[in-house]
Amino acid sequence: MSWVTPHAPRPDELSSCIQCGLCLPSCPTFRLTGLETASPRGRLTAMSAVAAGSPVDGRFEEIMGACLQCRACEVVCPSFVPFGRAMEGARAEIAAQTSGIDRRLRRLVTARLLRSRMAVRLGTLAASIAQATRLTRLAPPRIRGNVAGLRPLKGRPPSIVGRTRTAEGEKRGVAALVAGCVMDAWFGDVHTATVELLAAAGWEVVSPRGQTCCGALAAHDGWADDTRKMASVNMAAFRDVDLVVVNSAGCGAHMKEYDHWVDGGEQLASRVADVNEVVAEAIADGRLPRLSTDGGLVAVQDPCHLRHVQRITDQPRTILAAAGLTAVEIDPNGLCCGAAGIYSLLKPEMSRRLGSSKAEQVEATGASLVASANPGCEIQLRTYLSQLGHEARVAHPVELYWEALQRAERRAAVR
Ligand code: SF4
Ligand code: SF4
Repeated sequence: MSWVTPHAPRPDELSSCIQCGLCLPSCPTFRLTGLETASPRGRLTAMSAVAAGSPVDGRFEEIMGACLQCRACEVVCPSFVPFGRAMEGARAEIAAQTSGIDRRLRRLVTARLLRSRMAVRLGTLAASIAQATRLTRLAPPRIRGNVAGLRPLKGRPPSIVGRTRTAEGEKRGVAALVAGCVMDAWFGDVHTATVELLAAAGWEVVSPRGQTCCGALAAHDGWADDTRKMASVNMAAFRDVDLVVVNSAGCGAHMKEYDHWVDGGEQLASRVADVNEVVAEAIADGRLPRLSTDGGLVAVQDPCHLRHVQRITDQPRTILAAAGLTAVEIDPNGLCCGAAGIYSLLKPEMSRRLGSSKAEQVEATGASLVASANPGCEIQLRTYLSQLGHEARVAHPVELYWEALQRAERRAAVR
């Protein structure tokens, strides 16, 4: 049996690969294993085999499942193979053609629970209690590792949803902040910094009640119908705003590709911007200030979905420089940190090797501050830095900039 869904890798996507192999050195799983089947080219060959009639079986699932969906291969491909789209199609086929308790559990988490604000809040309450009582030590090792990388959680965190912040100065328009699933419950300080910076840059900021999870994790795991539903809900929720701002790189990358999932999805996708883009632009045209203080070194980690998918690299560095920080590079190759959504739970050994390597690169810089614009990467970095005994703080670039501005204001007030 070949493909059975409309999402399957398309013939033009597969035939665009000219088998040159230029993507191989950029692929983290190929670099670690040396296996052709763990390379972009090998994965595309496996998809072509299924398109020609081979079954979607356990071997195919293994080859596709080992991919991080980091899309480093797309950046270097001379033939512009849309690897991320093809891989999402292959995952949709696996979800449609295979079954089992683990699949149902994955769908429950990525496609059902994450889009329920109530479920995320209940999970956050339980996790905060486990953190406070150190019950996390009793969790299975696979989960314990990830929990160690969480920020300290509040049992009942405030939500950004339904709030409005008026613009300061001349109003540029209305910007909606995407609350996200775990961003709203676990990364409230990033939301606060985002809202305040957008308002200072002239945007009225809202976060509509009708929104839901962006659907990135569901899409990466193959739950196409759920992904489409989430995209449709968000298209309605964000219909009337000028700009849709996202402060999680993975969510922004997915929302910029809503046209893959819903007819007319480009109407929302074209208004989506990562917060790094919006804030860096405001700094460049003088609506937000540049500080000249010496804030020390900050190691910059480029999340794959910011660097490879959204092609955003300069903007976080502009923001960190405006915060008075000196950016140091940790990895010129931009290899994935191994977080990759739920990959760290599904492929813990590969994830561990990549996470450890990234933490060692950070440690080598000597910086005690790390900037990362994606929640999964932040958790992964904190997890493996703590295993090295390196107590670096990991935070979002806009959070570091907002904190620096507040410090500067306090200093100016006491003069
Ligand atoms: S998406 Fe990343 S892990 Fe997957 S084939 Fe491309 S480079 Fe390799
Ligand atoms: S670089 Fe592009 S065309 Fe070349 S093997 Fe990789 S995916 Fe195929």
